[in-house]
Amino acid sequence: MKQLYYNGNIITMNEAQPKAEAILMKGGVIVAIGSNEELLAEREDAEVVDLDGATVLPGFIDSHSHFGSSYIFPRFDPSPVGKTNSVKDLVEQAKEYLEEHPVAEGEWFIGMGYDHALFDGQLHPTKEDLDQISTEVPIVMINTSGLLGVVNSKVLEVLNITKDTPNPEGGHIYRDPETGELTGLFQDLAIRDTVLSKMPMPSAETMIESICRAEQMYIKHGYTTVMDGNFEADMRPLLQFCTGAGLISADVLGYVRVASAAKVALEGITSPESKYRTHFKISGAKVILDGSPQIRTAWMSKPYYQAPAGEKPDYCGYPTYESEEHILELFKECMNNRWQLQMQCNGDAAIDNCLDIYEKALQETGLTEDLRPVLIHAQTIREDQMDRIQALGIIPSFFHDHVYYWGDWYRTVVLGPERASRISPLAWAAKRGMRFTLHQDCPIGPPNMMLLLDTAVNRRTRNGNVLGEEFAVDIMTALKAVTIDAAYQCFDDDVKGSLEVGKRGDMVVLDQDILTVPKDKIRDIQVIATIKEGEIIYQAEDMECVECIEEASEFETSL
Ligand SMILES: [Zn+2]
Repeated sequence: MKQLYYNGNIITMNEAQPKAEAILMKGGVIVAIGSNEELLAEREDAEVVDLDGATVLPGFIDSHSHFGSSYIFPRFDPSPVGKTNSVKDLVEQAKEYLEEHPVAEGEWFIGMGYDHALFDGQLHPTKEDLDQISTEVPIVMINTSGLLGVVNSKVLEVLNITKDTPNPEGGHIYRDPETGELTGLFQDLAIRDTVLSKMPMPSAETMIESICRAEQMYIKHGYTTVMDGNFEADMRPLLQFCTGAGLISADVLGYVRVASAAKVALEGITSPESKYRTHFKISGAKVILDGSPQIRTAWMSKPYYQAPAGEKPDYCGYPTYESEEHILELFKECMNNRWQLQMQCNGDAAIDNCLDIYEKALQETGLTEDLRPVLIHAQTIREDQMDRIQALGIIPSFFHDHVYYWGDWYRTVVLGPERASRISPLAWAAKRGMRFTLHQDCPIGPPNMMLLLDTAVNRRTRNGNVLGEEFAVDIMTALKAVTIDAAYQCFDDDVKGSLEVGKRGDMVVLDQDILTVPKDKIRDIQVIATIKEGEIIYQAEDMECVECIEEASEFETSL
């Protein structure tokens, strides 16, 4: 099958040929790219699509999110994404949802997205609040950070968790300071390992439906490669079924938490360039080293601006693992097996610790080859640490959506004005000529690429304030971070990330020229279509240009 897309404003992200008008693909691979005139001459046998002057970019590449858990569960986000602005809203809306979508016998009800920072008194819901939704169905409400969750009494009963249950390493089970009774709130590895890993698997039907729904969310924002940054081994057959049977079209990359049972999925992987099988590959391993500034669990070198309730003024957060030896062994195991390493750190103390240990692991393993380790989130990285990661060949992947969603909260409560202005300092990476990537960590937020690019360029918060203008980058630099440099991070730069001969025909079509639109209007740009290996996998409805594409396609194909 051949496709010719012509009459486009094609931004290739290939420095040797930055712009083109037409692109020809065969079997999903680009075989020619150039002017309308040149390529229309080669149109024979090709399905021809008129882009009607629309702007085209390489398909967006996700450098960190959680495809497997995105949109599997109902969302209870605050405004403007949703309408859950208080505990009362959460209880009412969840109750209504559960009445309309009763869970099957033995299954749990999981909701995501509530943001206590915007609730009265900045308080989390309690188990008693969730008991108002149901006392029969086990319920877990996962905080928007993804690192905290509240359960109802039924979950505690089913899992036999009592006030005598100890905190797991790297996790905290909250108790009433006076009575010692559980409040229902679980933090970090306590919510992951003590609660969620014990949850019964939803039915295959529910899971397949959710995977397809999740893919739709990503591709409508122009993503053609998505990542599962906390891949669970038992998801593998289902995901490979969905990719292999063509139920979803995007490529899926899995990163496995090496200190978990899911590690089994890494067996047999011996190279960081592991190849796709039916659009799916296990790409590497992940080690979590601290929490998030947003809920003040990131491990900082200086105290938080305001300590959380119950903590002393010198509280700095904490590491996930107490033992450096344990982290060193995890790093060395990944490196010796050539499992690409994603090191998740938000706080600058966690980053110091991570770099010390990584350096030691490099010395002890003696490895000199191309490992492309990634520092995931890197939100509060300091400038001296940028020099260090550059010397070590570590790629920073910034969780930049925090500037928009929680920038105001960071400035007034979490970090104070000075440190808040420096979160995700893209300009420090850009001025060093470093490759870096940008991620959204979906389902923490929706995979809204135009919002991410707008925030990278403008650093506007949810309330319209500008946070650290000097750390913004230009649009071309931001685009590299979600195309060619993201492909490099995934060891996919030989096949993706730019539009050039020999690479896959993965593209996104936009309704405006992203390089010339006023920079404060980037977030208004619409994705008209998403194309994977030559095939249109998503088309916006109700857009004139789409009709042009459809008409042109039908008209030309019928010739
Ligand atoms: Zn994540």
